[in-house]
Amino acid sequence: MSKREVFNIESVEEILNRNDEVIRNIKTINDQIFKESGNQKNAFTVTYGCQMNEHDSEKLEAMLMDMGYNIVKSVEESDLVIFNTCCVRENAEFKVYGNLGRIKKLKETKPDLILAVCGCMMQQPHVVEQIKKKYKYVDLVFGTHNLHNFPVLLEETLTGNQQVVEVWDSQGDVVEGMQISRKKEVKAYVNIMYGCDNFCSYCIVPYTRGRERSRRPEDIVEEIRQLAVEGTKEVMLLGQNVNSYGNNIDDAVDFPDLLKLVNAVDGIERIRFMTSHPKDITQKLIETMAESDKVCEYLHLPIQSGSNTILKNMNRKYTREHYMDIIDRAKTLMPELGVTTDIILGFPGETESDFMDTMNMIETIQYDSAFTYLYSKRTGTPAATHDHQVTEEDKHDRMNRLLAVLNPMIHEKMRTFDGKVVEILVEGVSKTSDELLMGRTRQNQIVNFNGDTALIGKLVNIKITKPKKFSLFGEVVE
Ligand code: SF4
Repeated sequence: MSKREVFNIESVEEILNRNDEVIRNIKTINDQIFKESGNQKNAFTVTYGCQMNEHDSEKLEAMLMDMGYNIVKSVEESDLVIFNTCCVRENAEFKVYGNLGRIKKLKETKPDLILAVCGCMMQQPHVVEQIKKKYKYVDLVFGTHNLHNFPVLLEETLTGNQQVVEVWDSQGDVVEGMQISRKKEVKAYVNIMYGCDNFCSYCIVPYTRGRERSRRPEDIVEEIRQLAVEGTKEVMLLGQNVNSYGNNIDDAVDFPDLLKLVNAVDGIERIRFMTSHPKDITQKLIETMAESDKVCEYLHLPIQSGSNTILKNMNRKYTREHYMDIIDRAKTLMPELGVTTDIILGFPGETESDFMDTMNMIETIQYDSAFTYLYSKRTGTPAATHDHQVTEEDKHDRMNRLLAVLNPMIHEKMRTFDGKVVEILVEGVSKTSDELLMGRTRQNQIVNFNGDTALIGKLVNIKITKPKKFSLFGEVVE
């Protein structure tokens, strides 16, 4: 499907060397433009979807900065716009097409504007065909497996006059040594693996991000050591299913072993991870979490449905009983554990009784928070062709009834913090007000408070004085 179908996968070293050369070339040109006109080239990345995509955008921005681009926050002031897309849900795809349509007008008045699209959506052949046919003004299209090759593709785009498309079906090697722009100094994302082997019947990710590949533990630990030296206090270990980390590498290091290695890195204060798959959570992991002082008492564990019939049809490979047993065992060793989840409503064939199983599950587990989604058909997945699709009306009705139970449950949990002292890691200025700082508890609750910016990056004790619906407010305990 690629323009470069006969592209030999080179060694990682060759790729990085070639990128370095191209980055230097583009930087020389951009510096020259700045010297002559006083105009610095601006770039803007728009990120859709999950933390994996956010982290990919950080990598793209690092490469752009090395090429002499200034990273800006609006399309209007940009010379280069990149849409890093997500295909997990249909509405994210609609947003991308809508935004591409809007940019067309801007390109008419600003013909030199370079428009690039990348990310999961581009791994679907029908999307690439659509862009080639209907969005000819898109200058560059590249897939999730081609990220490391971005400088070379950008150079080709800047010097040529036709649409450049490079989307590999095959994921190739894990490419180590790419620059990463670390915007969040206190917290940093760290990929520990890529892709997924699980093929949940509703999910497009295994088709777009490829098979599961784990990074070598020594590379992960070295990256985290470097982050700690640069001032990072919290790392979020990322993977589609972190619990199966290590299955496909020679080192006899599994996910709990990796947590222990990261726990030993000086300077790191907190460790989180995402996403976990219930079928792969082991007792060893639960014990390691409880024993490792830096691993937060927080588990994001997608349940997706409380009905065993639906779980089977989703190909999730666990039952509600197994899920509840994990939570019981984890709470026995970590009574303070915060638990959040993902729930899909209206999966094909979901009956009222299946839905009530989900409701019952929520009330039994007493989640601290949940991300709730209406099932959306993804072309190419088995669930999309299921005969018994649930009507939109029923999906919305179930969502309203679920939120009517879930939201008061979360508010009630927040109220239990009233008057308590919690330890937070201060992340920065609050999103709600420039006057406030924000941080998170080990269980991931957001806490806003008045304080000096010198506290950013520090662990601080806060007395909660005002629990709100979805966050907490408090004051520093001296
Ligand atoms: S575990 Fe299932 S839902 Fe998660 S990425 Fe893999 S296939 Fe998708």
